[in-house]
Amino acid sequence: MSSIGVSKRLLKTVLRLIEEMTILLTKDLPARFADVIGAGHVLSDEAARDAYAHDRLPFANFVARDGDRVGTLPGLVVRPASAEEVVDIVRLAAEADQPVIPYGSGSGVLGGTIPLKGEVMIDMQRMDRIVDLNLDDNLVTVEAGMNGGAFEEALNTKGYTCGHRPQSLEISTVGGWAACRGGGQESSRFGKIEDIVVGLKAVLPDGRLLEVRPLPKRATGPSILDLIVGSEGALAIITELTMRIWKLPEAEERLVLALPDRSAALGLAKRIMQAGLHPRIVRLYDEKETAGRTKGIAEFGDRPVMANIVLCGETDVARAEAALVRRFAKDVDAVETDTRPFDEWLKNRYVSITKQWLDKGYYNDTIEVTVNWSQTTSLYDSIAEQIAELHPEAHFSAHWSHVYPEGVCQYMTFRLPPMDKDAALPIHARIWQIAQSETLSHGGSIAHHHGSGLFRGAWMDEEHGVGMDVLRQVKAAIDPQNLFNQGKLGLPARPGSVDPHRDRSADV
Ligand SMILES: Cc1cc2nc3c(=O)[nH]c(=O)nc-3n(C[C@H](O)[C@H](O)[C@H](O)COP(=O)(O)OP(=O)(O)OC[C@H]3O[C@@H](n4cnc5c(N)ncnc54)[C@H](O)[C@@H]3O)c2cc1C
Repeated sequence: MSSIGVSKRLLKTVLRLIEEMTILLTKDLPARFADVIGAGHVLSDEAARDAYAHDRLPFANFVARDGDRVGTLPGLVVRPASAEEVVDIVRLAAEADQPVIPYGSGSGVLGGTIPLKGEVMIDMQRMDRIVDLNLDDNLVTVEAGMNGGAFEEALNTKGYTCGHRPQSLEISTVGGWAACRGGGQESSRFGKIEDIVVGLKAVLPDGRLLEVRPLPKRATGPSILDLIVGSEGALAIITELTMRIWKLPEAEERLVLALPDRSAALGLAKRIMQAGLHPRIVRLYDEKETAGRTKGIAEFGDRPVMANIVLCGETDVARAEAALVRRFAKDVDAVETDTRPFDEWLKNRYVSITKQWLDKGYYNDTIEVTVNWSQTTSLYDSIAEQIAELHPEAHFSAHWSHVYPEGVCQYMTFRLPPMDKDAALPIHARIWQIAQSETLSHGGSIAHHHGSGLFRGAWMDEEHGVGMDVLRQVKAAIDPQNLFNQGKLGLPARPGSVDPHRDRSADV
């Protein structure tokens, strides 16, 4: 984009921000919020608002290198300390017709917390207590703003785990996990967050407090729990979650395997899951990702695909499952190697390398999709082929680290070398289009665990079909003023907002 274009956009943004702040002040909202939560927890200075204006959406980071932003600054940031304070804030906002966005830690990668018209950010991080640990029912109740790492550590200290360990464990909140329908590195055993959460409390856009009592199962109509888990702040603000917990396993068996090709590795994972085993970790890497992790290990010379598999539980069970996996592995000509690559991964399991690429000027992004086993190889090949045609140095690689009896999450990394933004962004947009539309045409889902946020809105109609009409109607019924996280999840934005579904290749 030319410097005139940038200045025009900046000017427009500044004018919009002045307008938004003026509206907020006219409504006297800062003072009214301060009456509820204390003036110290109402942040209105520009630096504070700027810190809440973005999450980890890679596209936003690309344009931020030129000082540009995808959305607007928030009008205000409020930091409640209890569900009652959230209720009061929501009631005041509804009265003033002021849109809000619940904010966990801003670790989302789809722009889910990006304001589109000076929304008020409701930062949940002061709500950070474990409310109850029930070792009879194996349940933990926790406030939604608790940091994931602190939460898991507190459970580990007592000899338990909730089994949800996203790579972003240390930079995300438990409420954000549920809001995005996230998946952790041990999902093959413990399930995704929707399998772990059994109850919750949440504030609706009219200020009522919704409670789903924590129970193993019920048959009382459609699941209200499932309506809220994955609603990305657009239907409710989650204030409390009750989750399953498990005793830390007595024993663990680790296998690192070298396999002749991708289809052998995928076939092995499929057999393990369809045999009803419960591996704690299954990580399969394509040739490129294997090569980066196995330098100097001879077995990978003629077997270029790696599988890391961890079995756990009572000692006898872990051993028996490991013995079965070793037998299955032999059938696909896999050989076991030393565990160095897995040990290295374990040491760095919460470390992200995205920033390193960003700082060097690269355009690095990841896209995770779900696909059934029967379609996996074809999906991988068709995306790989099309990416290779886009640019001679375009990087594409994938791993599979969430496996199920029916299929798998394909986690893909795409990277463009340092180049002019005007050239890179249309290719980046094309990469997203290829990955999402190929997934859909292979019968898959456009997202496995990162959610939809802002960036995936364009594909939500194709993902859900008539179901998207249902979602729009549910949103309109629960939130007729469109107050909660407007314009996300492919849902409509309020008039005058930044267009959440615009063609981003035109942002140059
Ligand atoms: C390096 C890195 C690795 C990652 N790895 C994983 C991974 O392995 N697995 C995975 O699932 N995700 C992963 N993510 C994505 C992200 O961390 C998750 O989506 C996480 O669950 C977001 O939590 P958060 O608290 O930061 O939420 P935020 O980013 O603050 O918010 C995300 C969305 O949830 C909504 N929200 C937040 N809190 C609430 C609440 N209390 N009530 C209602 N809505 C709310 C927001 O409005 C927004 O729409 C990764 C991200 C990064 C940067």
